[in-house]
Order: sequence, then structure tokens, then C-alpha cells
Amino acid sequence: MIIVSEECVSSILSEEDGFSAVEAVFAAMARGDAYNFPVIREAIGYADALYGFKSGFDKAGLSLGLKSGGYWPGNAEKGVPNHQSTVFLFEPDTGRLSAIVGGNYLTAIRTAAASSVSIKHLARPDSKVLGMIGAGHQSHFQVRAAVKQGSFEHVVAWNLHTEMLAALEKTVTGLGLTFEAVEREELGARADVIITITSCDEPLLMKEWIKPGTHLACMGTDTKGKMEVDPALVAAATVFTDEVAQSVSIGEAQHAVSQGLLAENAITPVGAVINGAQVGRVSQDQITLFDGTGVGLQDLAVATAVAKKAEEQGLAQSASL
Ligand code: NAD
Repeated sequence: MIIVSEECVSSILSEEDGFSAVEAVFAAMARGDAYNFPVIREAIGYADALYGFKSGFDKAGLSLGLKSGGYWPGNAEKGVPNHQSTVFLFEPDTGRLSAIVGGNYLTAIRTAAASSVSIKHLARPDSKVLGMIGAGHQSHFQVRAAVKQGSFEHVVAWNLHTEMLAALEKTVTGLGLTFEAVEREELGARADVIITITSCDEPLLMKEWIKPGTHLACMGTDTKGKMEVDPALVAAATVFTDEVAQSVSIGEAQHAVSQGLLAENAITPVGAVINGAQVGRVSQDQITLFDGTGVGLQDLAVATAVAKKAEEQGLAQSASL
């Protein structure tokens, strides 16, 4: 059994590692080779914490295990990140514990990988302007992963808390792109690709603001009741997702579906596009929308890749139970 520390994960796990692992596991899910087990998430009635497990099995990538963790709102005052995650991997042949992997950095990498997979497979290849709605912790990872797909030159960004935009500007200019803070309506009119990554429960982007041909990656809505874009925009777009069951229950599509604006069977798993089983974008004018809800198999796929890398580089700690 090995332990891959949080520090080790953040020093060796690249956007490319995350991208390959997530693209492969989305494809495996759509083929029926990988599936997520039911998610457990509980308010534990202590420290205001939400705690739970995401787990699954990928027969193709041989990842079996779970991510345990949650959200402790009081952690920041203690100098500890509010989100806490640890991944446990097991040998599919024997059930023995094979690795414990720090899951905090990994979560950001796998979330950004999901939207960048959607950009590769669904955005117009000539996309130049990236729109960012959100400037929190995840937004930096999102931008870094997105610029590795496509040919972005400029970022237009909006955030409710405007003081957070300066740090995002630094990340963007550090990647060699130009940056502009704009209002949301202008962002919709100018962006070719838009990533939304906020904690919000009302629409931040309206249907009539979005230009034809835009690709949206809606990444912030991962719980019942959250919302980032106008349900009419979701209904007007061709919708893709990581997992349809999550998209309609906890993802961005939950509202359009519950309001009768979008049928569940109109939502396509992005893995089916990766596999070539279903079509992705079919025209330059089509609005595509990826509903990235976040599945346990993403964590397991990336944890498996980083555990292998750590072992190969002699950076994993050996341990026994
Ligand atoms: P963060 O706390 O660092 O940042 C929160 C962001 O949301 C900031 O940009 C903030 O300004 C914005 N915000 C807060 N309240 C808002 C409101 N009422 N209206 C508009 N914007 C508001 O959080 P983070 O770690 O960057 O995560 C952002 C979101 O992404 C969270 O909702 C989180 O649950 C979600 N998330 C999703 C996945 C996934 O797989 N889909 C994975 C990780 C995080």
C-alpha cells in the first residue's frame, strides 16, 4: 500500500495527466465499462460540516475506490482549506487497499479537466475569447486547463466579489493571455467559450446574452437548488454532461428539466461523443452546454494516474495496515 501526500500530488499532477484520465473515464462510463455508486452526503450536525463519499468502479481503467470528504465552513479561520478530500484506492482483483491519495489539489485538477474535455470535444476549434464567470479557488485551475485546449488569446471575466478578479487576472496574464473585467451581458456577447464556476442559486447568464456558436461549461452547480444560468438558456442549448442522472438531479439541467423545458433523454453523456457513438457539435451556430456535475470516477481515475506516477518517480511512501 502506498500513501501519496497532498504535497506530492500538487508537485507531480499536471493538467495533461488530469485531462487524459478524465477523458478516458468519461468514455468508459459511456461504454458501460465504468459506473458510479450512489453518492452519500450528510450534514453531520457538528462543525457545520457536510461529509460524504463518492465511489465507483472502472473496469477498463481498473480504478476501484472512493473519495471521502466534504466541506467544513470554519476551516479557513484555522488556516485549513474548507474543502477536505482523501481518495482510497483498492486492488480490483483482491479488494486490498492499494493507495491513499491526498484529494484536495486532485479535485481541482479533475474538475478543470472535465470542462477542458468538453471544450476539446464541443467548442468551435477557432474559439479565441474565453469568458469566466467566477474567480474563486477553482477558477484558476479552470483557466489553466482551458487554455491547453483551443486557441484562446483573451479572457473576459466577471465575479460578484470584484476584489477576487485581480488574482484571476494574474493567473491569466501569467499564461500569456490578455484579461478584461466586464459586465455579464458583454461577456455573453464576446466570449466563444464560457466557464461558470461559482456558488450561486440564481441565473447569472441569460439566454438572450449568449451569441450563436458559444460553448458553455457550467461547473459550479453540483447540488440540488444551485443554479448559474437561465433555464431557458439550458433549454436552448444542446446539452452534454458527465452523468445524466446527476445532471437532472443536482446539475445545471435540474431546473430546465423540472420546469419541463428540457427532456432528460435530450441530454448526451460527453463520453458518447468521445467514443464517437453520438455526435457533438453539428454546426458553427449551435450553442453547446456541458453540465459538469462532478462524479467519483473522475477522482478515482486521476488518483490512479497520480499514484502510478508517484510510484514510478519513487515519491510514494510505502505503508502497511
Ligand atoms: P470559492 O469559495 O473559492 O469561490 C466561490 C465563487 O463563487 C467566487 O467566485 C464567488 O465570488 C462566487 N459566488 C459566491 N456567492 C455568489 C453568488 N451569490 N452569486 C454569484 N457568485 C457567487 O469556491 P470554488 O472552490 O472556486 O468553487 C466554486 C463552485 O464550484 C462551488 O459552488 C463548488 O461547489 C463548485 N465545484 C464543483 C465541482 C464539480 O465537479 N462540478 C467541483 C468542485 C467545486
